[in-house]
Amino acid sequence: ANTLSVALAGNPNSGKTTLFNALTGSRQHVGNYPGITVDKKEGFVQAAGQELHIVDLPGTYSLTAYSQEELVARNFLADTRPDVVVDVANASSLERNLYLAVQFLEMGAPLVLVLNMIDEARKHGLAIDSDLLSQRLGVPVVETVARYGQGKQALLKAVQQRGKQTEGDWEPLYISYGPDLDPVLQEMTEWIEREHFLTDRYPARWVALKYMESDDEIRVLGRKHGQLASALEEATRKVAEHCEKTLNTYPEAIIADYRYGFITSALRGVIRRDEHPQRLAV
Ligand code: GDP
Ligand code: MG
Repeated sequence: ANTLSVALAGNPNSGKTTLFNALTGSRQHVGNYPGITVDKKEGFVQAAGQELHIVDLPGTYSLTAYSQEELVARNFLADTRPDVVVDVANASSLERNLYLAVQFLEMGAPLVLVLNMIDEARKHGLAIDSDLLSQRLGVPVVETVARYGQGKQALLKAVQQRGKQTEGDWEPLYISYGPDLDPVLQEMTEWIEREHFLTDRYPARWVALKYMESDDEIRVLGRKHGQLASALEEATRKVAEHCEKTLNTYPEAIIADYRYGFITSALRGVIRRDEHPQRLAV
């Protein structure tokens, strides 16, 4: 009853499995997600009298249904609603790694952001102001060097703190997608809310965004709601046509641009380049 469920997510090669091993030690086992061949690693760790159940999710760059890994990760979150989602980011390429973090925030996930491979970032002369980043994103940020188990205790503490919050204590992140998409997204969001389409799983605006991003799984699910699906598809088609004609681009590209714009602002003053980077010992 007192067990805290924790999902470890992040881009491939950000150090999730290394962190998972550092946290769980030998208390782990490997299984499968039903019906597919993606490995499911689960483990346990005891911290301050509380049991944490940790799942190592497959690495993903996005949460759109473009690959099996992305589908597994987001369906796991929607199906099991873990108490805490730990997003493991590579501190050396923070801008790119935050693209996934932003999507977790838009999904309304109870996030803790890990900046892993801090040792590598330092070697490259990068100094990161984690507190400032935490303020900007409104989530706890913890620095780790998973390879050496550094930051483990701070992470466990942050996870347990975050786990005390309950849904309703925070809102999904709202990003503006500009004058061409925002009004349409707003309208679609209202339709989705009215029909309660997937709203037990995702924020309504997130579902609208997935339509605009041409997410196949969401579109297929939408077809069970005939009229709603037609309206959503029609709105998406129209906005795509408009983007093509007047801006020579498409909605997915605009969405990605605005997300990176949000990330650029969030990172302003967060990353400093050291004049005298530590030399790599050769
Ligand atoms: P995953 O794909 O996210 O599960 O990443 P892995 O845990 O497999 O790690 C990818 C690579 O990064 C491995 O070679 C790890 O040894 C290495 N690695 C993980 N964490 C760190 C870290 O904090 N610092 C450094 N320098 N390397 C790390
Ligand atoms: Mg892994």
